[in-house]
Amino acid sequence: MPTYKVAIVGAGPAGYFAAQAINNISDIDRSFAIDMFERLPTPWGLVRSGVAPDHPKIKTVSKVFEKIATGENFRLFANVEIGKDLTVEQLQDRYDAVIIATGSSLGKKLGIPGEDLRGSLSAANFVPWYNAHPDFSDVDVPLDSQVAVVIGGGNVAMDVARILALEPSELDPTDTADHAIDAFRKSSIRKVYIAIRRGPEYAAFTSPELRDLPKLEHTNVVVGEDEISAAIARVGETAEKDVKSNLDAMLFIAQNQKTEHERTIEFLFSHTPKQIQGNGKVEGVVFSTSATEVTIKCGLVVTAIGYNALDIPGVPFENGKVVNIDGRVKGNMYVVGWAKRGPSGVIGTNKSDASAVIELLRQDLNEPKNKSDVTELLQGKTVVTQKDWEAINAAEIAAGEPLSKPRRKGITWDQLMAHAEIYRF
Ligand code: NAP
Repeated sequence: MPTYKVAIVGAGPAGYFAAQAINNISDIDRSFAIDMFERLPTPWGLVRSGVAPDHPKIKTVSKVFEKIATGENFRLFANVEIGKDLTVEQLQDRYDAVIIATGSSLGKKLGIPGEDLRGSLSAANFVPWYNAHPDFSDVDVPLDSQVAVVIGGGNVAMDVARILALEPSELDPTDTADHAIDAFRKSSIRKVYIAIRRGPEYAAFTSPELRDLPKLEHTNVVVGEDEISAAIARVGETAEKDVKSNLDAMLFIAQNQKTEHERTIEFLFSHTPKQIQGNGKVEGVVFSTSATEVTIKCGLVVTAIGYNALDIPGVPFENGKVVNIDGRVKGNMYVVGWAKRGPSGVIGTNKSDASAVIELLRQDLNEPKNKSDVTELLQGKTVVTQKDWEAINAAEIAAGEPLSKPRRKGITWDQLMAHAEIYRF
């Protein structure tokens, strides 16, 4: 029975769902050996460094990833950067198929004056900072003002606003980075605005996330009832199910507003950012609204307006995505997930996305190449294998246990590598 060798670049949800889809096309006529490459010493991508720590249920998908990873046909090569330690061409030569699953990690810019002031940052830096991504432990997050503004109307904006407006002790039983919990404890921020450039009917939030907001125990959530009612009237009976469900969730929030808490999240619709003001650091944001221009005084601005994919030498990129037709890139190269379609959908969206691409890959398969193993190209390189990652994972979980946390994450590359047993080829 022929065995095909497949390289997956990126150990996030899209990569694991691609591996799962590959396993699903394995049958009595052919089998697959899967090698997954990851730049970081740790896998799971956004499930580790993106998903909000106060939403641990979303992270349970990591159990699916670990089941795939412990399969006999699977090897993890973490701490290996494609484009540096190995080239894409080397992978294309050695493997029957190469699947790019590197996501989108660069925050889009607003392109307005003042965006580079201290205190103005992208969710692409803020989120990995509080989630202990080892490249982001030094991000400068000034939390010494009373007011923060989050720009964007999607679930990332909502995650960011919630994390900024939670009572910090609510993060104690989570896997939030130690340095972030310490900073939130000292934070002066009590009011967080979410500024959305269009009306409520166009917001990109999803309703389960909106419905979670009234459950916050220490934070008021403010939405203008008149604004939501006007949007409901505008969309009428013909509104799409998702829009209607969002508007219903927002109306519920508007009609059940709490005022007793010290901390507040307030939604501002139809606010288009024009300028970030400040002398050396952020002091306010100027918005144009349907009526006039308004300035909100604040000391922190976080933009959550989408992401672009990071280039990899040897992979064609355009408009923040890998150039592809339905996931086919060029030769034996494929792309899945956010790197393919842009930053949209929830984690589960990557499952059907990957299945569709792997079906094309199956149709394209020729005879296996039978080239020698990639490990000969990694001589002297310190690789974090699945076993090493399991050692990191166990160490983090053990460190969390006495604190009743699911895990206490390593914050730096050195800490993570020290937890691993480390394999040197
Ligand atoms: P998103 O859902 O695409 O939302 C981006 C938001 O940014 C939109 O409201 C957009 O407004 C706004 N925006 C874009 N350019 C702007 C500009 N120049 N000025 C002002 N606003 C601008 O993206 P996301 O929040 O980054 O989320 C990415 C994906 O991850 C989404 O599919 C999301 O659902 C998913 N996610 C899911 C969860 C969860 O399930 N809990 C959590 C986090 C993320 P316009 O509509 O006007 O363009």
